[in-house]
Parts: sequence; C-alpha cells; structure tokens
Amino acid sequence: MSPRRLVSAFLLLSLLPALRAQQEMVRRHRPMPAAGPYLVLKADLHMHTVFSDGQVWPITRVMEAWREDLDVIAITDHDDYRPNEKDVSMDLSRPYEIARPVAEGLGIVIIPGVEITKGDIHFNALFVRDHNAFRGKELISALTEAKKQGAFTFWNHPGWKGRAEWWPVIATACSDRLFQGIELLNGPVYYEEARPWIGQYGLTVMGNSDIHNASLPEDPRTVNLVLARERSVEGVREALHAGRTMAWDGARRLIGRREWLELLARSYLQAPGEVRFTPGFWYNGLPLGNRSALSFELRPVDAPAWMEVLPTVVPPRTTTVLQIRLRPDAPKQPSRVTLRLELSNTTVAETGAPLVLPFEFTLNP
Ligand SMILES: [Zn+2]
Ligand SMILES: [Zn+2]
Repeated sequence: MSPRRLVSAFLLLSLLPALRAQQEMVRRHRPMPAAGPYLVLKADLHMHTVFSDGQVWPITRVMEAWREDLDVIAITDHDDYRPNEKDVSMDLSRPYEIARPVAEGLGIVIIPGVEITKGDIHFNALFVRDHNAFRGKELISALTEAKKQGAFTFWNHPGWKGRAEWWPVIATACSDRLFQGIELLNGPVYYEEARPWIGQYGLTVMGNSDIHNASLPEDPRTVNLVLARERSVEGVREALHAGRTMAWDGARRLIGRREWLELLARSYLQAPGEVRFTPGFWYNGLPLGNRSALSFELRPVDAPAWMEVLPTVVPPRTTTVLQIRLRPDAPKQPSRVTLRLELSNTTVAETGAPLVLPFEFTLNP
C-alpha cells in the first residue's frame, strides 16, 4: 500500500468511532409539555443490568434512556436473584454508582433502587440508602427495611405468575404501609385485576419497562408519567408519594387517576372556541391540536341529534380535524355545541372505563 493510501485508510478508520458516536447519541424527542403547575416527567423506574439478570452494563441503560428521551430512571437489580455472581460484583450499589455520573452529565435524574425479589412476589424499593440490606431477608422484613430507609415501594407485575390476588402477605404489607404503589403496566402487559386496588387502598399507579435486554429505540417503552413540581430526585419522590402518576405504554394505552388524566388531556388537546363551516366542503370539523407525544383516540358519546361526528385518532404533535357532518335539520344560525368525547385509549384507574371529556364551541354554519 502506498504511503498516501495508508494515510487515507488511517484517517477513515480514525473517523469510525465518531460516526458510531453520532448514531448512538441521537435522541428521539417525545415532548410532554407541562400540565397545569406540573412538569410531566417520563420515568422508567424498573430496569435490570448485568448486576442481576439483565444483558447490559449500567452506562448502556443511561444511554438508552437519553436516546429515548427519558427524564428519570432507576436501575433496580434483584436482591436475591444473581445469575451472574461468578462474573460480576454483587454489590448492588455498583450499578447506581456507575450510572450516576453519566446520567447526571446527560441531565437525567437517577434514583437509587432495588428489586426486592422473594419467590414470585417482587417489589421495587426506590430512594434506598443501603442497596445491600435486603438480601436473604423474607418479604415482610425486607419491606420493613425499605420503609426504615425511607423508600417509596411498589408491587411489581402483580399477576405475572397467574391472576393477582390480594394475598394475605400483600394485605399485611399494605396495612403496615410497607408499600405505596402497584405496577399496573409492566412492559406491554396490563394487570387489570390489580386496577381496583389503586382506588381501594389509595395506591400510586406505576408503569415501567422491566427491561432486561438492550432497548431498541423503535420499540415502545412503558414509562410512568410523573407530575412533578421540580425536575429532581426530591421532585419525583414528592410526586410518587402524592400519587401524581400515569402509566403509559409508550404507544397508545394510558392509565391513571381521573384527575391526572383530565389535566393531561386538557393541557395537551386544544380546541378552538369557534368552528366555522365552509358550505360544500367535505372536511369540516373541530381541529384538535395535540402538543404531546401521546396519541388520543376519540369516539363521540354525546352530540346534538343534527350532527354526525366521526371517530378520530389525534396522533402525536399534530392538529387533526375531528370530522363533523351536519344533517339537513341543523340550525342555520351560530349555535353553542357541547360534544362529549371518549378518549378510548385511556383507562381511569378508579373505574376501569375510558375518560370522557366535554368539548364546547360555537358552531358557525
Ligand atoms: Zn420482577
Ligand atoms: Zn424486574
């Protein structure tokens, strides 16, 4: 090879890491603007690394989170399940310590956590002070230890080994206030049977990926939407204890308490106060602006008899016209209209039914 070719081959090779970095450090934005007085933080509070049964190193989890536009993460390796113990240190504070400087450098809030793993019943303890204090304890004493450390604790994937029940050990843990939330969404799986306990026992709705493999950016990731007063560990802690969360599967399903679903839908779906109809135009209707990364599937449940409203999906970051047709007996003068629309892809935690919202506007025919 000529010296000149050698130089160009060397230059090309030296560029490869830069090209690779360019691909790895690309963030796909998923905007969640503020809702009322709250920031809406995307938080994945349940994920694994090689420090238990995950496939990746803690820094990889942080980079994935950055690429997928997460605001908050918790690495929660298992306390009592350690398939890699021959090869990797089993000090459970290490994944947090390794990930923390990178997360903070990239502006991601990182929360120390552990998955308390006792047979088929698993809980995540967040904001722990001693990651290694849970090993070898039975469930109730591990949960008591979490409470002693000031943790926010939630019951993970309640029905993963068959239908969840309010088992005696869960009832004991709940009456001793040893946990504060339930994971209704774990990855793509929804545990409807656990949903009524949210309202019944005053628990916080949780939704997380529980990711073990590498995360592919094109795959939707289940996260908590946390309504926080500030973007910080303390901000997240306060919001979780106050129950200001929703579980989102990253694509369509959104589950939460009525108050928070309503606040989010009201903040993100914007309709004008007046709608002008163009005679003869086929696409008249109510333009709905959606500023967020959520999609909203709308179905009319109540409208004036002289009006036909078509079901519509409002995709993320679009303005989409909810199409309205007027029947011949529609008023010829401007009139005040109230449409009640079901947000079909939402689930109200208190009832299990989709949220229904009224939209009011003046129709100018
Ligand atoms: Zn688990
Ligand atoms: Zn897990």
